[in-house]
Amino acid sequence: MTEQILIDAGRSLRGWSRIGQYLKCPQLFAYTNRIGLSLIPTGALQRGSLGHVIQAHQHAIWGCQQGGVWVDDVWHEDASVFLSPEEAGATWCSQNREREQYLEPMIQVFRRYMAKHPEPPGRILAVEYPITAVLGRSRGTWGLWVVDPTEVPRCTRSTTQTLRGFHGNVITPTPLNSPGHLDHGKPIMMTRRLDMAIQDRAKRVWIWDHKHQAMVQPNKSVGAYAIDGGFAAFRIMGKQVWPDEFAGLTLNLIQTRDPWRVARPTVPPTPHRDGHFAEILWRAEHGLAQLDMETTHWKWPKAMHETTCYGRYGACPATKLCSFGESAVEDEMLNHEI
Ligand code: SF4
Repeated sequence: MTEQILIDAGRSLRGWSRIGQYLKCPQLFAYTNRIGLSLIPTGALQRGSLGHVIQAHQHAIWGCQQGGVWVDDVWHEDASVFLSPEEAGATWCSQNREREQYLEPMIQVFRRYMAKHPEPPGRILAVEYPITAVLGRSRGTWGLWVVDPTEVPRCTRSTTQTLRGFHGNVITPTPLNSPGHLDHGKPIMMTRRLDMAIQDRAKRVWIWDHKHQAMVQPNKSVGAYAIDGGFAAFRIMGKQVWPDEFAGLTLNLIQTRDPWRVARPTVPPTPHRDGHFAEILWRAEHGLAQLDMETTHWKWPKAMHETTCYGRYGACPATKLCSFGESAVEDEMLNHEI
C-alpha cells in the first residue's frame, strides 16, 4: 500500500504575518525574518499547528466522502489516501520530538470537538488550500489579483509581464520598484493558505479559519480578527475565487480545556480597509525593501510603544535586544530558519 498523506498545514510563503509583523514593528520583523532569531514561544505555535493538522485530516476525509475536495493544490476523491486525524497528529509529532508533549492534550481537544460537532459543517470544497495573488492591474482596476495556480512559479520572476488570473483574466503586475534590491522588478505577491472553504445549504461559500484558544471569547475574537489584515486578504481573495457565491469568513474557535467550548462566529466585513488594502501592501513592501538596502538589521525602526512592546501576551520577547543590542542574544534564540 502506498504511504498515506500527511497534509501540510504550515504557513504559506508570503502570508500576512510577514507584512503584519513589519507594520507592527519593523525591528521585530528584522529580528525574526532577517537576522533569523527565534522569538515566538514555541509551545503556542506547536499546539496550534498540531490542531490544524488534525482538523485538516478530518475535513479532507469528509470532503472526499461528499464527492471530492481540494487538499493543498490537488483534487482528491478517495478518503483512504489520508491518515486518520489522530494518526496524522501522531505522525506530525514523530517528526520532531519536542512536539510529542502536545499530542495527547490535542487529541483530547479533538475528541471533545467531535463529540460536539460530529457532522461536516457543510459541503467541504477545499482544505489547506493555497491561494496566490499579486499587485497589478486587471479588468481596468489596480489591486490585489488572484492568479491561476499554474502561474504561481512565474510570480517570482522579474521577466513576467502578464499573468493569467484565477478566472482567465489578464493581470499586468506592478512589480517592486526598488532599484538595487534583490526583488526589484519582481511581482509583489501575497500568499494565503485557507484552512477550509465550505458551501452551506444556500450554496454560499465561506472561508473558515480554525483557532485553538485557552479561553474562547467569541466577541473579543471577532473584533480582533475582523481588523487583522490576513482576514482582509481572505475576503479579497474569496470574492475573486468564488465571485457569485462568496459569503464571508467564519472563525472556528476551539477551546483547549474544560469546558471545551466551540464557537463559530462570522467575521464582520471591513470595506473601508479592504478598499485600500492593496495600497497598504504596496507601501509596506517598498518600505521593507528600502530598509533592507539602507541600514543594518539591528537598527531598523522600533515601535517603542508601551502597548506594542507590552501586549496581550506580556512583554515582547525582544525587549532586551532592543535595550542592549546583539550582546543580549540568548542561545535559545538561535537555530531559527528564515
Ligand atoms: S520591544 Fe518593542 S520596539 Fe523592540 S522589537 Fe519588540 S515591539 Fe519592537
